[in-house]
Order: sequence, then C-alpha cells, then structure tokens
Amino acid sequence: MHADYPIDQQLQGQIHLVTGATRGIGEALCWSLARAGATVLMLGRDEAALETLYDGLMAESLPEPVIIPLDLETLTLDAAEELAGMIETHFGKLNGVIHNAALLGSRTPVASIKSKEWERVQRVNVDAVLYLTQGLLPLLDATENATLVLTSSGVGAKARAYWGAYAVSKFAIEGLAQLLADELENTSSTRVFCIDPGATRTSMRAAAYPGEDPMDHPEPAQLMPFYHWLLSMDSQPQRGQRIKARLDR
Ligand code: NAP
Repeated sequence: MHADYPIDQQLQGQIHLVTGATRGIGEALCWSLARAGATVLMLGRDEAALETLYDGLMAESLPEPVIIPLDLETLTLDAAEELAGMIETHFGKLNGVIHNAALLGSRTPVASIKSKEWERVQRVNVDAVLYLTQGLLPLLDATENATLVLTSSGVGAKARAYWGAYAVSKFAIEGLAQLLADELENTSSTRVFCIDPGATRTSMRAAAYPGEDPMDHPEPAQLMPFYHWLLSMDSQPQRGQRIKARLDR
C-alpha cells in the first residue's frame, strides 16, 4: 500500500490487537481503530467490561470486534501461541499489536518495594509483552508491513524517585523494543516502535498524581491521530524509533 494513501483508509479492513482494552488509552484505541474500519482484537482481564465495549461498538455498526479475555499476569507463551493460532485461523493475518496494558503498582522508595508487587508489575508490564510478542511475531511477519507497538513512559527513559517497579519495567520495555527493532530491521517488514504517550487523562495518571487537575492533560481520544499514524505506512521513515506522542498528528 502506498504511503500517501490517507491514513484512516489504510486501516480499513486491517486486524489489530490492543492489550488493556477495558479503559484509558486502550479503550479509546478500540473505538478509534474500529471507526477507521479495522477489526479490533480487544484483550483484557475484565470480561464484563470487554462485553460492554463489544456492545457499544456493535451498536454503532462498526466492524465486529473480538473479545480476548486474558489476565496478562498469568499469561504463558503457550497461551500466546494458542491465541496466534486462533487469529490465523479466523483472519489469516495480523496487521498490528499495540502492547498498551500496564500496572502502575505503588509509588514507593526502592528500599520498601515488596517482592510480590515487584513480580506482578514485571509479569504484566514485561513478561506478558515478551510472550505475546514471541507468540504473535510469526503472524505479524507473515503480514506485509505490520506494526508492533511497545508502550513506555517518561520514567522508562529517565527514572524518578519512588516510581519503583513501574519505572524498571518501562526501562525493560525500552530495551526489548530496541532489541526487536534491531533484529527485525533487515529481516522483516514489521515496524517496531517504542512510544511514550505522555501525560494523559486516565485512571493510571490520576493514581500517580492524585493532587493534579486531570483537565490539565489531553484525554485518550486526542492521542488517536498519533496512533493511527503509527499504524499506517506514513510512519515508515521513523521505523524502529522511540517516539513521544504528539497531538498534532
Ligand atoms: P489505565 O487507564 O490504568 O489502563 C490500563 C489498562 O491495562 C486497563 O485496561 C487494565 O485493565 C489493563 N491491565 C492491567 N493489568 C492487566 C492484566 N493483568 N491483564 C490484562 N489487562 C491488564 O492506563 P493508561 O493510562 O491508559 O495507560 C496505557 C499505557 O500507557 C500504559 O502502558 C501506561 O504505562 C502508558 N502510559 C500512560 C501515561 C498516562 O499519563 N496515562 C503516561 C505514560 C505512559 P483493568 O481495567 O482490568 O484494570
């Protein structure tokens, strides 16, 4: 497909998997990609919330989404490979994976981090991203010009006091994205991106900064042109890069 084809038309008929689909940026992605004509594979651990989202999309006569009820804390490589088999059987392709789900965990000094919470955060924010990527990469690679998006944060590039397990998990994501970008650069048409959405009006942001006014930050819907651009061929020149979200595209 040619890069100057309008972005939203490029997404028409595509298949995209979004993790953390139940709220925040992930929920906005499901609406926005479906409105651009894509079939969204909505992964989350709250099945009731996924069903509500499914009903909403169907009520707008958007492409029928797929509910994938999975808890990323306990995800195994076997489960990810099984998911890949299901997607291949039903759709025969996968145009994009947006690793969006994450756990914030507690804001605490390193000296006080509890091992159980450390493990939960690393399992959701890092291990599940690795297993899902390992499981889905063959299908992405078999699909021409697919996109693999890993989600970091400002504290994944420059740690700040008390960001604990979350900051370390995002540093790991930055490393994983760099590895994948380098490994796939000459062997695959799959574009890898590591993105930092920036301060966004979601429940995660409110939990991290309870004292601030949420209205000071853009809502998830305002980031959608940026995500559409990422998933389109227009992002090809930035392939492999770490990118901070911009509201002007
Ligand atoms: P959010 O509102 O807290 O949403 C997080 C999503 O992840 C929810 O759908 C949540 O599901 C899901 N999730 C958490 N644990 C899960 C598990 N074990 N299994 C399956 N799903 C799970 O967060 P957000 O603000 O939209 O953030 C989206 C991404 O952007 C994250 O990677 C975050 O680190 C990154 N980010 C956000 C900001 C910001 O200001 N918002 C800034 C920088 C980076 P439940 O509904 O079941 O909990």
